[in-house]
Amino acid sequence: MDELFNQQPEKIKCLIIGSGPAGFTAAIYAARANLKPVLYEGLQPGGQLTTTTDIENFPGYPNGVTGATMMEDLKKQAMRFGTEVRMGIATAVDFSKPPHKVIIDNEKLLEAEAIIIATGATAKYLGLESENKYKGMGVSACATCDGFFYRGQDVAVVGGGDTAAEEATYLAGLCKKVHLIVRKNYLRASKAMQNKVLNTSNITIHFETVTKEITGDDNGVTGVLLENATGEIKKIDVAGFFVAIGHQPNSEIFKSFIETDDVGYIKTIPGTSKTNVDGVFACGDIQDSHYRQAVTAAGTGCMAAIDAEKYLSLKHT
Ligand code: NDP
Repeated sequence: MDELFNQQPEKIKCLIIGSGPAGFTAAIYAARANLKPVLYEGLQPGGQLTTTTDIENFPGYPNGVTGATMMEDLKKQAMRFGTEVRMGIATAVDFSKPPHKVIIDNEKLLEAEAIIIATGATAKYLGLESENKYKGMGVSACATCDGFFYRGQDVAVVGGGDTAAEEATYLAGLCKKVHLIVRKNYLRASKAMQNKVLNTSNITIHFETVTKEITGDDNGVTGVLLENATGEIKKIDVAGFFVAIGHQPNSEIFKSFIETDDVGYIKTIPGTSKTNVDGVFACGDIQDSHYRQAVTAAGTGCMAAIDAEKYLSLKHT
């Protein structure tokens, strides 16, 4: 590792790591402020939105837009103002003193005056083959994004924490019936959220139950096979299957330098995108365990570019 950090670096003014709505919005603002941003797309170019189908809640798209199209448009917009978009993954960092260092793909060294981290979070999935098969065709990890497509129909939510409770209650307002599938014999969610779930008449909780398989046809999900604690298998008919078993923020490589919470979400100074390291900013889902929306990610991306611009202008005066 040492020799990687001792090689001749490429010097960059503003480095953006991550290519979701936060990263590309930061790039649009940074490029327009003449920060000559270089953006690395990471493991999943376009981020989590590329795994959803239609996005109908992003302001400015009255007819909706697919996740893939929106991310392509954001990329074009960032490039139009001069952002250099590169393929590659940040694999190690050294933020011990400026200029901050980042290794790309375990081989190339960059030195950046300002760094914007927009590496997002990854929704956890159960790991079933059938779940993977129907991703974007009835299997979703975001009720706010996709719930609307199942209005008036029956759906299932898996998980027992606050996210699952919140998603189940949200979906109950849209759907005919919500099956909440919980592997333990209790909910881990806060008391207030538990009460909400228990007091919503169209939510049925299946305790001590695991998902064996998601069934479907060419049009998408049609049902779920469940197994309870006594080994009994039953099938429920649903059109949507929402996985709400937690997210993993993609912050592993930054943790020795950047403060995170217990789960790994980067801590920013409230009302800003500043981290505990001068010149390093964070935006989007990597620092937001709560809202996790494309539009909020884009908003914080804008904040990060403005904060970076301010930081660089003070540095050069
Ligand atoms: P949590 O880690 O709190 O809960 C995950 C849930 O999913 C648990 O019930 C867990 O079961 C279950 N689970 C995990 N893996 C599997 C699996 N393979 N199969 C079946 N079930 C599984 O994650 P959340 O996303 O719910 O919450 C994360 C954090 O965000 C929490 O601190 C939460 O309080 C907070 N939050 C707060 C909200 C609010 O205040 N409005 C809204 C949403 C989140 P088990 O209990 O058996 O481990």
